[in-house]
Amino acid sequence: MSAKSTNSGFCALCGHRATKTTMMAHVEACVAAHDEIGQPQPLVVVRFAAVGSPRYWLIIEAKADAQLGHVDALLRQLWLECCGHMSAFRVGRRELAMTTAVAIAFARAASKVDYEYDFGSTTALTGELVGKRHGSIGRASVRLLARNEPLVWPCVDCKNPATVVCPFCLDSDDGLFCDAHADVHEHVSEEVYLPVVNSPRMGVCGYTG
Ligand SMILES: [Zn+2]
Ligand SMILES: [Zn+2]
Ligand SMILES: [Zn+2]
Ligand SMILES: [Zn+2]
Repeated sequence: MSAKSTNSGFCALCGHRATKTTMMAHVEACVAAHDEIGQPQPLVVVRFAAVGSPRYWLIIEAKADAQLGHVDALLRQLWLECCGHMSAFRVGRRELAMTTAVAIAFARAASKVDYEYDFGSTTALTGELVGKRHGSIGRASVRLLARNEPLVWPCVDCKNPATVVCPFCLDSDDGLFCDAHADVHEHVSEEVYLPVVNSPRMGVCGYTG
């Protein structure tokens, strides 16, 4: 599938637009202005991208002692949750406990942590440490800093922006339709269409965003 779009994203704190590669510089400058009042504590900044679809990306920050389970919950909320599937973080072939501290899991820059949601129709991500700082983010253990803008997918029939996905046809790259062409697609009577959403899980299982 090919989306006609850039690598752009937006800062979740202030709305600023930047590219995937320049967003970290923005976030570093922006984030302290959005801290809560409170004792600064060590934080780690992690970027996730979808395996095979790196235009889906997120930058999050977590308290260093937050658990991977907190990151898992945020990934599910933003990108993944359809029906409560299993998930796992791994380094190489070693699975990390969901109770592992984020700063331990993402101890070194350039060392990737793999993540999978749903071991059947899997959505795979990789995460990497992209920053550390001291700050106060309030009560939450993790928060979103930035994410990719919604990708614009052309309808396979007319090239106007697609609004729905036919899961039966998604694997063959012919599964994206505008409303008009969805109505005349051969699988319309199957009632399986899913919405176009800003997530690497678009069109998979029952994911509706
Ligand atoms: Zn910002
Ligand atoms: Zn599901
Ligand atoms: Zn169309
Ligand atoms: Zn179809």
